Amino acid sequence: MTAQVHAHTPNGLTIWLTGLSGAGKSTLAALLTDRLREQGQAVEWLDGDELRRSLGRGLGFSREDRFENIRRAVYIAGLLNRHGVITVVSVISPYADMRSYARQELPGFVEVYVDCPLPVCEVRDVKGLYAKARTGEIPCFTGISDPYEAPADPELKLHTAERTPEQCMEKLISWLTEHRLYQL
Ligand code: ADP
Repeated sequence: MTAQVHAHTPNGLTIWLTGLSGAGKSTLAALLTDRLREQGQAVEWLDGDELRRSLGRGLGFSREDRFENIRRAVYIAGLLNRHGVITVVSVISPYADMRSYARQELPGFVEVYVDCPLPVCEVRDVKGLYAKARTGEIPCFTGISDPYEAPADPELKLHTAERTPEQCMEKLISWLTEHRLYQL
């Protein structure tokens, strides 16, 4: 007999992945959403690049525009949460005050610091952006010519330079389960 598994999340939850470009936010978000979906959980993934393409037209990379981008992500996450949908948000979100805003607005907010040293992100250079940032072709690039304020007290820190993506994802799932934020 095959056991029927019902994922159960009493209230919506937002898993907020913050970190430098190339730290591994999207990779982990993809693994996590796949895993939760397999378990029958309603889940949505809001990715920074996609958000900018869809809802962020006209927004640049000034502090104000970055904040506005986050405000929009928080608004959507809030709507989804209200319907019990786990929302995974993968956005650099470099300023502490924008993450505080998200925490304040979203009752089930879990801040996950996807922590990877800048030199490692730069070697990975997944999208070739660091090279362009170094030459100045891309201005205001987080970690190079724009600040990244590392979270002081995140719910969870994942060291992606020292672990595989699967190990990081398992750690995240374990943390959620241990804290009874997610249960099968
Ligand atoms: P971001 O979304 O933060 O800009 P990406 O997920 O696009 O970063 O890229 C991260 C890169 O680092 C990918 O090529 C991924 O395979 C690699 N990587 C190596 N180890 C890890 C890990 N533990 N977690 C996530 N990504 C990792």
